[in-house]
Amino acid sequence: MSDRVVLVTGANGGLGQAIARAFLADACVVLLGVRAGRDRAEKLAAEFSGRCHLLDLDVRKADSWKTAVESIVAKHSRLDVLVNNAGKHEDGLLATLSADAWSNVIETNLDAVFHGCQAVLATMISQRKGRIVNISSLSALLAPPGQTNYAAAKAGVVALTQSLAKEVARMNITVNAVCPGYIETEALAGMGEEERKLAQMKVPMRRFGKAAEVAAAVRFLASDEASYITGAVLKVDGGIL
Ligand code: NDP
Repeated sequence: MSDRVVLVTGANGGLGQAIARAFLADACVVLLGVRAGRDRAEKLAAEFSGRCHLLDLDVRKADSWKTAVESIVAKHSRLDVLVNNAGKHEDGLLATLSADAWSNVIETNLDAVFHGCQAVLATMISQRKGRIVNISSLSALLAPPGQTNYAAAKAGVVALTQSLAKEVARMNITVNAVCPGYIETEALAGMGEEERKLAQMKVPMRRFGKAAEVAAAVRFLASDEASYITGAVLKVDGGIL
């Protein structure tokens, strides 16, 4: 499984770092899509110098995707795996949710996946091979209050995944979604001790997941072994749903 060229978006974040590491362990060439935050990505690129590089990419912008993918293909002549991992949430009750909080979250979580898939498809079709893994969320399947924007965006990612999987299956391109539950990253750092305990009580395994446990699922879906799996929605949630 080595020598593949992999692009991971949101690669400075907790999950993005773990996903990038999983592919680096397989000796892949990994492009770390970054925007504002880049400290951890820079450290990872230094650790795996020669086959791990930063790539400027604002996932909300089609022209940013075009430039990023063109530069990958110019340098590596291929792109085997895209992991659409970048995301954000801005929670709040719908009655008072600002229009900006709605559109920012839809743009970053859903529009971004549309732009990303569109940007890589020509290359994957010409290769007659490709793997796309979209990071959705358990919120797509079990929408909590206070996340109308995020849950709608992530449910959109699931639907996009299933529809696109059918469009490109004959070209040997698979498109799958991963739905993480509670995963120990900065996203959960703001939780108080009591809130953590209550949340963990909702998880049959009685613990939050590790970023590496999500990364392992992504790595598998992107592997040759997963060649007959497409349009799948794999939840990694300790058994909540
Ligand atoms: P983080 O907040 O740690 O990382 C998110 C990353 O996305 C950051 O590196 C951020 O970069 C990047 N990003 C945000 N907006 C953009 C943009 N416009 N262009 C490019 N990059 C952008 O989150 P996690 O690592 O925890 O989450 C990763 C994914 O997993 C997300 O899609 C999230 O919704 C999903 N998820 C996470 C769960 C969890 O419990 N952690 C649970 C379920 C789903 P920057 O610093 O530039 O903003």
